[in-house]
Order: sequence, then C-alpha cells, then structure tokens
Amino acid sequence: MPFATVSPQFSGPAPRLKITDVECHVLLAPDYDASFTSSAQDSIVVVIRTDGGVTGIGECDANPWMAKTCIEAPGTHTMGLCIKEMLIGADPFQIGELWMKMYLGTAMNGRRGMIIHAMSAVDMALWDLCGKALGKPVHALLGGATRQSITPYASLQPAGHRFEEYRDALCASAEKAKAIGFKAMKTEITMNGPYAHGGMRESYERHTEVLAAVRKTIGPDITLMVDVQYLWEDAATCLQTVKDWAEFNVFFLETPLWSDNVREMAKLAERAPMPIAFGEWLATRFEFEELMDVGKVQVAQPDVGRVGGIGEAKIVCDMAKARGRLIVPHCWKTGISISGTAHLAFVTDHCAFIEYLPPQLCHERLRRELAQEELVLLPDGTIPLPQKPGLGVEVDWDVVKRYRVA
Ligand SMILES: [Mg+2]
Repeated sequence: MPFATVSPQFSGPAPRLKITDVECHVLLAPDYDASFTSSAQDSIVVVIRTDGGVTGIGECDANPWMAKTCIEAPGTHTMGLCIKEMLIGADPFQIGELWMKMYLGTAMNGRRGMIIHAMSAVDMALWDLCGKALGKPVHALLGGATRQSITPYASLQPAGHRFEEYRDALCASAEKAKAIGFKAMKTEITMNGPYAHGGMRESYERHTEVLAAVRKTIGPDITLMVDVQYLWEDAATCLQTVKDWAEFNVFFLETPLWSDNVREMAKLAERAPMPIAFGEWLATRFEFEELMDVGKVQVAQPDVGRVGGIGEAKIVCDMAKARGRLIVPHCWKTGISISGTAHLAFVTDHCAFIEYLPPQLCHERLRRELAQEELVLLPDGTIPLPQKPGLGVEVDWDVVKRYRVA
C-alpha cells in the first residue's frame, strides 16, 4: 500500500463474513427547493449486506444520483474499476485495504471529488457493519473513546428574503437553541456572494449588523461561530469587515474565501482577529495537507460524508493534531452521518465541537424522518458517549421507500 489507512481495532478473531450486496437508495424530499442552500434535502443510503445477515448503512453529502453511479458504474480497465464489484465477496473487516483498493481501482475516475465522496458512504457503511458484527460502537473500533462527552453546536436556521426577516430568523433560532441547552452555536451570515441565502444582495456592513444582533440575543457566555460561506474574493476585502468583529468574540470564521484560494487563506489566517475554519468540501488527506500547510487555517473541518469516510477523517484529525490545529467536523445531513461524526469526535480530543441539530429543530424532512440516532443533548449542553453497536442508528425503511427516487 502506498500510504496508511485505518481499519477496525479489536481483540480476538473477526467473525467470518463476506460482502454479498451493495445497495444504493437515492432519496429526495418531495418539497425540495433547488434555490435553498441546504444539502440535506436529498441523500443516498448505502446498504452493505453480508452472508452472515449483518448489514451496515452509510451516506455521503454529494449529489446522490452521481454517488450511486460512482458506486455502480461498470469497470472497464484496471484503473477504472467498479466499486460495487470490488466489494462483493470481500471481507468487510479489511476496511483499510478495501479503501485503498477502491482508491487505486478508481484512480482514473477519481482520486478527488465525487468518487471519494461516494467512497465515504461505503466506508461509513463498513464501519457500521463491523461494529454491529462485533457488538461494539464504532468509537471502540477506532481505538477507543478518549472522552465521555462531546459538545455540539447548533447551526442556526435562517429564513426569508429581506434583511430584517433573515436577521430575525437567526435570532429566533438562537433563542430556541439556547432554551434547549446549547452552549455553542454557529450562525450563517451570508447575504451576498455565491452562496447567498435566497438570492440576497446586502452590504458587508449589514453582515456585521446580523452578527451584532445574534451576539446580543445569546449573551456573552455562549460560544459563537460564524459561517459566511465563501462571501469574499480575497483576504484584503474580508479583513476590511472582519477586523471589527473581535468585539463579538467569534470562535472561528468559516469559509470566508473560495475553497481553492489557499494562498489568500494564509494571509487571512495570519491577520484576522479570529481563527479561520475550512474543509467542508474537501476530499482526502491530501487536500487537507494543502489546507493546513499552505492555507495555514487554524480549524480543519473534515466531513465524514465527503473526505473519504470515517477512516480518512480520522487520518485528517491526526494530521491536525500533529500541526497543533483544532478539528470541528462539518456535517449537514441525516442522523447517519451525524452519528459517524460523533463517533469520530469521541476519539479526537482536539475536536472542539461537532455540528449537531436535534431533528425537532431542523427544517429538513430527511433529517427529521429518515434515521433515529442514539445521540442525545443533555441539559448541560453535552452529548454522552453512545453505547449501541455500529453507528447506533435506526433507519426507518418506510421513509426510504417513501422518498426513494432511484
Ligand atoms: Mg459551512
């Protein structure tokens, strides 16, 4: 193998299992709106079956039709093989070897981007499957939990198309999150740029006004992160606005520049009055290496459903630790990926927070209906260690049937 991979750690012999099938279910919320910024309006549920009857489930955060094709498309040559065919007959406990086999076998179709995102769903399903087969939670197979609780942050939900509606919706969402015990929150403030909410075009001063309103709503004691979703073109323009944000005590500023603009990130990381966070879209450790070593960002945000899966995210976490950087994983999908993220956080001491919204606070129907995760938010604002085997997620298969479009 050209480089390291991660496989389950456990004592004793592994149950003898062979993969017999890989199913890909494309789900779409019937009321989805393509002008919304949320990627949780669709999903792919990957189910890996074995001859022993044990199954695993995973999902990724990328176009589900494309991910299904990446997994099922027939192979035509040695550097363009079929992921599904590579998995059939294989031992599911060899996760690291299977990851490398998929990575090498799809090299001319992938190495970055969609193939890696699709592999993330497969990897997640394999971890779930192995945990279930051994009767152990995924965190135990990742080397064992190093902490008894983790702290989630609430992603505040915007609404409306006018400035006042947008600001007030975020403040109302902050009130709700505070009322149920969240000790940390992340507010989106994106009323301009490529990812602007609802086609808005507001000035940068008004972005500061929203930040001031949210901070005032939650008071001084709650940790506040800000996601501006690729708002600025360069570090200098960004600094003109954020140089005045120190007074709002921002824990980090997420994706202020375009994701490929790593040299500008480094300028910002050096001069901004708060840490800079990036990584939600990235695929593989190699993109994170560039992000941290060239882009110099202080907070890395691997998404288990995009970076290459739970194992690849673990490698990114270890790279961040070696560089003295924080991890705050990205995850905006259903309970399947959110659980994967949580299990990773329980073996990552330098993971400051995870992104988590209880289903009842979330607008997206797939988040609310598809999967019931084991995670619970305690009144002290923490999530205790999950105990169930695998990812500890119960999928409602009637919901899969209801929203399945391919
Ligand atoms: Mg974001």
